Formats: sequence, structure tokens, C-alpha cells
Amino acid sequence: MNTTAPEERNSTEEQAAIDTSKMSAGQRAALELTEAARDGVSERGSFAGGQFMGRLGLDAVHPFPVQKPEDRDQGDAFLERLERFLRENVDPDEIDRTGEIPDAVIKELAAMGALGIKIPPAYGGLGLSQTNYCRAAILLGSYCGNLTALISAHQSIGVPQPLLLFGNEEQKRRFLPRVARDEISAFALTEPGVGSDPARMQTHAEPTADGKEFILNGEKLWCTNGTKAGVIVVMARTPPKMVNGKPKDQISAFIVEMDMPGVEVTHRCRFMGLRALYNGVVRLTDVRVPRENILLAEGKGLRVALSTLNTGRLTLPAACVGLSKRCVEIVRKWANERVQWGAPIGKHAAVADKIARMAANTFAMEAMTLYTASLVDRDKKADIRLEAAMCKMWGSEASWEIVNDTMQIRGGRGYETADSLRERGDEPVAVERLFRDSRINTIFEGSSEIMRLFIAREALDPHLKMAAPALDSRLPWAQRMKAALKAGWFYARWYPKQLLPRFQVSDSTFDPVVRRHLRYAARASRRLARALFGAMLVHGPKLERQQVLLGRFVDIGTELFAIAATCARAQALLALRADAEKRELLELVDYFCRSARLRIERLFHGLRNNADRNSYRLAQAVLAGKHEGVEQGIVGRPD
Ligand SMILES: Cc1cc2nc3c(=O)[nH]c(=O)nc-3n(C[C@H](O)[C@H](O)[C@H](O)COP(=O)(O)OP(=O)(O)OC[C@H]3O[C@@H](n4cnc5c(N)ncnc54)[C@H](O)[C@@H]3O)c2cc1C
Repeated sequence: MNTTAPEERNSTEEQAAIDTSKMSAGQRAALELTEAARDGVSERGSFAGGQFMGRLGLDAVHPFPVQKPEDRDQGDAFLERLERFLRENVDPDEIDRTGEIPDAVIKELAAMGALGIKIPPAYGGLGLSQTNYCRAAILLGSYCGNLTALISAHQSIGVPQPLLLFGNEEQKRRFLPRVARDEISAFALTEPGVGSDPARMQTHAEPTADGKEFILNGEKLWCTNGTKAGVIVVMARTPPKMVNGKPKDQISAFIVEMDMPGVEVTHRCRFMGLRALYNGVVRLTDVRVPRENILLAEGKGLRVALSTLNTGRLTLPAACVGLSKRCVEIVRKWANERVQWGAPIGKHAAVADKIARMAANTFAMEAMTLYTASLVDRDKKADIRLEAAMCKMWGSEASWEIVNDTMQIRGGRGYETADSLRERGDEPVAVERLFRDSRINTIFEGSSEIMRLFIAREALDPHLKMAAPALDSRLPWAQRMKAALKAGWFYARWYPKQLLPRFQVSDSTFDPVVRRHLRYAARASRRLARALFGAMLVHGPKLERQQVLLGRFVDIGTELFAIAATCARAQALLALRADAEKRELLELVDYFCRSARLRIERLFHGLRNNADRNSYRLAQAVLAGKHEGVEQGIVGRPD
């Protein structure tokens, strides 16, 4: 595990890793900017990273990390209060209906410390661990999406998280007690032209003549909590820096007070779900922000944003775990009591198949999330970027399937609103609200497509470092030859190792069911490394553009992570269970691993057998308007 503070790491090596010379200007700008902000990692020791190099580092997940009793007790005390408060005082359907969270609810949450769960007591917070924070997100996610978003946007990406990671002591003393106590915060990166591509950022900050302040101008879109916040983190372009005689774009992170002259919320955005989200357009007009409000350093804003999101995005899969648990509960009840065609619907195989998948995926999601949270608890500066991204991508996609299946199993009642159900005397189960609220999860805090690119970049990193200089047309021949020899020597020793069987953890430690699946995972990890290496040889630097192919590698790696976390957690739980319960747990784990293995085999098959080229060509033809017939027969719209 790399524990070097992000600010201390050197990214020059990474900047040279990708040949951008043949890219379009827009692609080059986007890539160079994110590469420059990416933390340079000399040797990834992470579990998820090792898989792509053929190393299933089981000793990283097994024995599965268990919460220390003291930590667990602290968490339990807070979670009990939170659970009681939610159950007795919060009506998520009313919040959804009115589009407002009552002030009394926010006040009470603040009073119990829910705004400062991870903030150390020295700054007025509860000082709970990442695991306890994730447990709170599970609880909230099972109940009210709007409250989850409020708390999470404030704490996971709003002012507390970047301040804890990068703030200096003076900044921490100024802002943390405020945001821990009662002041809501937000994170403002997105702009009309900036979604997944920060290189297009327009908001800019010019230093004053004396350099003591910056003058910010621009407009931020979809800033969650923006309409309620007292203080927000704003990403803005600052004057370019000369690097090797060329101007390099700079982005800086500013702490901005919402009552500073020139800050205004011009619009409250409304969405399909999360109807009580306090999300707005924030306009900045000649806002004077003192230099002391810059986080980390001038020009390091993107690094602040990316690192904040690396840990911050773990809250979202935790909330997805809560949502999925709620769905399993709803479906268990309904599929038992609803009788159709002579049997409870849970007895019909088509429904049972969905229920099994829901339960197994929920267990796996929780295992992945708790494991990743434990890494942060072990080491606050742990590099969890890959694990957190996998949790976010896999968790948001799996929970979307779960909520979709829940709607299918609830049938017409799934599609009916809770209010309407209640009004006609039926049980007001709010699947329709859960469905609307959760659709955004695969889009924000890094869309699934961007997560796959991000994971692929990290997965390819060891290969890029080794092989890319040899293929980089920007470098002189002599340097490329030297790099080629070095890479050749490395791969001549590395590749044969990927063909040899090995299993690092003593077999007798595992239950036979668990062992069987872990053995498969170890084999599949080496197969993944060989296949990835093969793709590098076939595609060379162009592999970076093969998004669909890379996505399959990423999905295989993520499924392997899911298998390993699931098996390790199950193994730890087995020790605590009676025999009958052991059998049930093993059944669940066995089913999960069998289905994950089927998915993995399909993905391996797809590496060679696919229609990727055809699909790309067809999409380009559609985009060029060559298949207008497909759109014929619909009501016309002005262009
Ligand atoms: C409810 C809500 C709350 C939000 N809260 C915040 C917040 O608090 N702070 C904040 O800063 N932002 C926030 N956002 C913004 C959110 O993070 C963005 O919506 C997200 O980053 C995607 O940007 P975009 O919507 O502009 O999509 P785009 O970036 O325009 O992408 C459109 C589609 O293209 C795909 N795509 C884009 N680039 C690539 C690529 N290179 N390769 C493959 N596919 C690609 C995307 O995955 C997506 O499917 C929020 C958005 C919403 C809707």
C-alpha cells in the first residue's frame, strides 16, 4: 500500500507515460491535465491493482478486517441514535413529495453530529472511523436518498474531506468546527461545459496586484447543497505556469464563503429523483477570495478534487448497499405473500432467480465497501483509488439492477407512487421513489464510463511505465531502444510466471467452497494479466483508445475483487456462525462466485469474440445521420 502523501509524490514520470502526440487538441488537453494531477505511484501495493499484474494478493483481504470492539461500539452508539431519529422523525416520502427537508430534521442531524462524523473531536466532530461513516451511509441509503445526498455531498466531497486531506492547520481551525457543527458545505467542479472533462473549465481566478487575493468569475452547475451551503470548495483556473518554456494550465481549489460579495445562487435545479436535493447553479462575479483560502497550493486544485473524490466516492457504494438491503427486504416480504398462478411469486423460477442475484450481490457489495473502508482506517493516507472506484462502479451498477428487479417483482405496485398506494389502502412501499432516486448513482461522482477509463489507466500503469517509453514516438530512438531492452528483460521473466500455478495462502485456512473460488480467482488473475499484456502487444499505445475492450479488462478485475472480498468476508463470518447458518452463508457465497465466474468467462470470451469495430462504425454512421430511417415515424421536433 502506498502511503506517501499525495502532495509529496512526483508525477513527472506519469506525465511521460502516455504518448499524446497523435491525439486531438481537446483529448490531449484533457489527458495532460488529469495526468499532471494524478498522484504518481512508484509501486502499487493495492489488492485491486495487483490483479492486473497477475497477483491475487490474498493476504491483503484475508483475514478479512474486522472492526475493533472499541470502534464498533462508538459506531453502534451513533448509529442507534441516527436510526431511531430517522424512524421516528423523518418521512422520506414527504421529503420527496414536498421537495424540502424540514429545517428541524437538518438541525437535529447537526445536533447529533451527523455533519461531522469523520471530523476529529479536536475540531468539533465525532471523530468516527471511515467504517463507521460507511455504516451511517448504509443506514441513510436504506431510508432516504435526499438525506443521504445532503450528508454525503457535505462530508464526502464538500469542505470537510478536502480540508482533512489537504488543509493547513490554520484552515482546519477556521473551517472544520463550523462545518462539523451546523454549517452545510458543497463542492463545485462541474460547469455547463465541464462534466467529465475539467480541461474545459471556464471559471477563473486572477490574482490581485498585491497577490493577497484572487478574483473569481464563472458559473458552477449542479452544485449539490449549493442552495443551503455556508461555505463551498470551488475549482477555478488560475494563471498558467511556464513548464519547459510552455504555458501549462493550472486549476486551483478555493474555499469560498457563500456570503462573500459576488456569490449568488441563480437557479435551484430539480431532478427526476432526489427531489429535495439542494442543488443549484452558483454564479461568481468578481468574488474576492483571500490567498489563504487556497487548498494545498496554487495550481494543485485538480489534485485536490481527484484525491477528494478517491475517498469521497466510497460513500456512494455504501449508500447503494443500504438501498440494496432495503430492496431485498421489500422483495422477501412481497414474493412470499403475493400469490399468482397458484404459488407465491417467489416460488416461480424467473422471480427466484432475481431474488438470489439481489441477495448475493448485496453481500458482495457490502464486503467490497467494508474492506475498502478498513484500508482507510488502517492508514488515513492509504491509496484506495482503485478499490473505491471499483466499489463505486460495481456498486452503483449492481444496485441499479437490484432496484430495477425490485420494481419488476413488485409489478404494478412497484410503479405506483407510495402516496397513491396509501390513498387506496395498499401498503405504501416506495419502490418508485427508490428507483428515481438511485438512477443518478451511475452518473455522478464519476460516471461508470469515466470509472472504467480511470481504473483502466491505473491497471495499465505498471505496463505503461515499463513499455510505453519504447513505443513513444516523441522520444529519441536511442532512448526507445534502451527502454525496449529493459522492458524485454522484465517481460521475459514476468510472463512465464503468469503461466505457473501458485496460491499464496495456505489452503487449509479456507472452507473448501471458499477455497475453490479463490483458486479460480488466482488463476483468472494471471489469465487477466496475460490477456492485458497481449492486448498491449497487439494495440500498442492505441490500446488507450479501445474503451470497450479496456472495459472488459476492468470488469474482469472488478469481478475478481468482488469474489476475493466476498470469500474473505464469508470466511471471517463462518467462524462466528453455527453449523446451519454456515451452510446458508456458504450457499450465498457459492452462488455469488458461480455467477461472477460466469460473467468473467463471458468477458474473457468477449476479448476476442466481439463486434466492437462494427458497433463503433455503426454508431459513427448513426451520428452522421446515415440511418435517419430509424428515427422516422415520430413526432417532429425543431432542430
Ligand atoms: C443530481 C446531480 C448532483 C450533482 N452534484 C454535483 C456536485 O455536488 N458538484 C459537482 O461539481 N458536480 C455535481 N454534479 C455533476 C456530475 O458530477 C456530472 O453530471 C458528471 O460528472 C457527468 O458530467 P455531465 O453530466 O456533464 O456528463 P458528460 O461529461 O457530458 O458525459 C455525458 C456522457 O458521456 C460519457 N463520457 C464523457 N466523457 C467520456 C469519455 N472520455 N469516454 C467515454 N465516455 C465519456 C459520460 O460517462 C456520460 O455518460 C451533479 C450532477 C447531478 C445530476
